[in-house]
Amino acid sequence: MGKSKTKIDVLPIPKTCRYCGNPVVYTSNSEIYGKEYGNGQCYLCRNCRAFVGVHTGTKIPLGTLADNELRKARNEAHYYFDKLWKEPTRIMKRNEA
Ligand SMILES: [Zn+2]
Repeated sequence: MGKSKTKIDVLPIPKTCRYCGNPVVYTSNSEIYGKEYGNGQCYLCRNCRAFVGVHTGTKIPLGTLADNELRKARNEAHYYFDKLWKEPTRIMKRNEA
């Protein structure tokens, strides 16, 4: 017992960064976030900060390394989302009228 049949894609472990070619390390994701999130582990390129999380309890990467460009795009989405929250006046006013 103990071996569950969870279906996960067994992706190859990233050894070198596909963006900059530097070595990828298996490490705590606190290196990225400042504190550990989820299962706390990830693969990280310390040169360009590309990283990918792992399936809990394994060293199998969740996907391929995500680089800064990808995360910048995500951050921009956050930025616009924040703006929506911080500038609700136009929508709110409609109810007051
Ligand atoms: Zn890199």
